[in-house]
Amino acid sequence: MESILIVDDDVNLCKVLKEELIEVGYEADYVNNGLAAFGYLRQNRTDLILLDLKMPGMDGFDVLKELKAKKIELKVIVLTAYADVKSAIDSAKLGASDFISKPYDFDELLITIRKVLQRDT
Ligand SMILES: [Mg+2]
Repeated sequence: MESILIVDDDVNLCKVLKEELIEVGYEADYVNNGLAAFGYLRQNRTDLILLDLKMPGMDGFDVLKELKAKKIELKVIVLTAYADVKSAIDSAKLGASDFISKPYDFDELLITIRKVLQRDT
């Protein structure tokens, strides 16, 4: 079973999205800030991160930079309310696989998740 980690400071979104992902057959969990994500990753096998960009403290861009610096090869879909072209380009440059805007459409998100998980890199 593929494991998805949601990293978002919106606790309600995390809870709802986690349930939605579990319902369609993924393992899913969440953390509410960037720092906690690295703690989680040290202890749990994870295939994909759904990453919010705007978070207090370590934001999504910082998480992407840190993943790169630590050479942690992990698929990341950026999920953000601030979906603009620049954020999308910056995220892609930092290694994000795809970009979905909030409020998300779960079916659209699911298609993107499946597509990203099927890629070799
Ligand atoms: Mg946020």
